[in-house]
Amino acid sequence: MVVIDGARGEGGGQVLRTGLCLSLLTGRPVRFENIRAGRSKPGLLRQHLTAVRAATAVGRATVEGDALGSRSLSFRPTTRAGGEHHFAVGSAGSATLVLQTVLPALLAADGPARVVLEGGTHNPWAPPFPFLADTFLPALARMGARVTATLERAGFFPAGGGRFVVEVTPGALQPLSLLERGPLTVKRAVALVANLPRAVGERELARVQKRLGVPDAGCSVVQIASPGPGNALHVHLGFDGLTETFSAFGRKGIRAEQVADDAVDEARAWLAAEVPVGPHLADQLMLPLALAGGGAFRTLAPTGHATTQVESIRHFLDVALRLERESEKVWRFEVG
Ligand code: AMP
Repeated sequence: MVVIDGARGEGGGQVLRTGLCLSLLTGRPVRFENIRAGRSKPGLLRQHLTAVRAATAVGRATVEGDALGSRSLSFRPTTRAGGEHHFAVGSAGSATLVLQTVLPALLAADGPARVVLEGGTHNPWAPPFPFLADTFLPALARMGARVTATLERAGFFPAGGGRFVVEVTPGALQPLSLLERGPLTVKRAVALVANLPRAVGERELARVQKRLGVPDAGCSVVQIASPGPGNALHVHLGFDGLTETFSAFGRKGIRAEQVADDAVDEARAWLAAEVPVGPHLADQLMLPLALAGGGAFRTLAPTGHATTQVESIRHFLDVALRLERESEKVWRFEVG
């Protein structure tokens, strides 16, 4: 049995999700201790419990410790089952992170899968649906993955109530190399507003235009259906081969211009480093590359999520992973 100390590294939900995912993929049982010890509310929150339930359903696993607030968990999978799945977080917790837990396993499942996910779809500190649809899944598609995702309803904090459907056709992942970034060919920004004045989105886009030079024609405010109020800004910058997505979220008491600045600052740091892969895609691509047994990318200085992800993968897979600094702003991740 693999034993994982959740207090190590980044100390959040990612250690749990990656461990469950790799347990499903390798068939090795896993025990987690000190789950989310690095967070202010440690243990399993609703979103993590849903991830455990999702992994349990896909793996037809036996599990102990699967309760809200639990700080330890044992998980023993028996298979990787495709078919129909329905996972609902039951709060505004991120449903895309639930998908992150089981998607690689579904790509190696015994048949195609159709997964309905409910909860938050546009959350801070998680991959928002537009990042999934425009950045992560297209990168996976370049590795041979056949996955489609359709948003049916957006869910924002605190009301939640979002829903999307993912269809997965199993198949092996191929190595991917993302080392260079060519000239930008995509410059778009989308401000989503749900049950809020359109002007919020217009002010965000005005700021993005001013600071990033996104053309008028590339900017749109989209009034989106959602049970509660919500606002998200997504800046898409692409070159031949990959589009990155930089996101920020409206919050009570924060000016629209500040929301725009959050996304623009992240986009500018990526532009300045001239690397293809941004900080969030970096930690999320590590596992697919490790599963493919090869590939490499250049990215910015690794986040805590990225270094922790390397450690988590090493618990289960005997592959050579390197994460090395190449120059002041540039790091390189390589498998094999
Ligand atoms: P954790 O904090 O451990 O629950 O993990 C959060 C996950 O969400 C990591 O895989 C991050 O890369 C990802 N993430 C956080 N913010 C964003 C964002 N703005 N865009 C895309 N992915 C994100």
